[in-house]
Amino acid sequence: MERYYRYSKYLREKYGVKTYKLPVNLPVTCPNRDGLLSEEGCAFCGEKGGGFDNLPSSVSVKEQLIKTKEYIGEKYGAEKFIAYYQTFTSSYLPLDKLLEYVAPALEINDIVEVSISTRPDCINQHYLKNLKDFIDKNSKGVNLSLELGLQTVNYRTLKEINRGHTLAEFIDAVLTARSNNVEVGVHLILNLPGDNKIDAIENAKVLSALKVDNVKLHALYIREGSDFAGRYKEGKLEIISMDEYIERVITFLEYLDPKIAVQRLLGRAPEENSLFVNWDHSWWKIHQLVLQEMKVRDTFQGKKFNYLQGKCLQKFI
Ligand code: SF4
Repeated sequence: MERYYRYSKYLREKYGVKTYKLPVNLPVTCPNRDGLLSEEGCAFCGEKGGGFDNLPSSVSVKEQLIKTKEYIGEKYGAEKFIAYYQTFTSSYLPLDKLLEYVAPALEINDIVEVSISTRPDCINQHYLKNLKDFIDKNSKGVNLSLELGLQTVNYRTLKEINRGHTLAEFIDAVLTARSNNVEVGVHLILNLPGDNKIDAIENAKVLSALKVDNVKLHALYIREGSDFAGRYKEGKLEIISMDEYIERVITFLEYLDPKIAVQRLLGRAPEENSLFVNWDHSWWKIHQLVLQEMKVRDTFQGKKFNYLQGKCLQKFI
């Protein structure tokens, strides 16, 4: 039995064949780093802003896509691809520059989707409509999707980690994407300091209520150069145990709408320049432990998804 709805399965259902992401590294920054919102960045953010295995941003978008397509196609047997604009805040650009960067993806065979990873406060109706129109005009049916970094629905924690936006901006971005028929994936960290199991449940509930399309979970890792690194070295940062993380993942999945695809149960970060990564276990090992525990408990994604649409009225049915 599948314990959760895997994103790989979702992509196969959608595109009919094995479909993989091709990471693209743009020479962009982020409003939470360049001084618009702050210069410090989110408390967990290392200097690379995600995308550790990517080619450098000095390589043209077209070349990045061609090279990674060849490598990933061969290594994983993928037949279709998603151009995944991954690093920092990929839409934090003038619109014409963003369209210029998206254009090469529309010229490469077998790319079926353009996915923009960004912050909720770096997308709006004007950008989405123009992006969508541009892609529709210049491709044969390439889809557009967003990956929104939220990290947690707990607005107090968002403030604590210097995220620079609250839950409201996230809701606005999801509703704007919805109204443009753009799919939404969401990134969450289930063990941010200050969050607990109740936050894990609320994360699942909010994402389910907003009907997002997929979610990517991360366990907190501590990158050298981040604000958390300083606190960690001083012994002032508490990180929950691996068992507690597994508990939160299972609880999150139980409350999550079974129609929402799950990209990952935890992320991967290189040990180089990291002070703490996944309790010194491989992501795969922890993934297996989650599945084993779900089997023992005979549980699955959506087991407790019964709280929307007037739960209290169910007694009258
Ligand atoms: S995590 Fe993302 S939003 Fe936060 S500072 Fe880093 S690049 Fe910016």
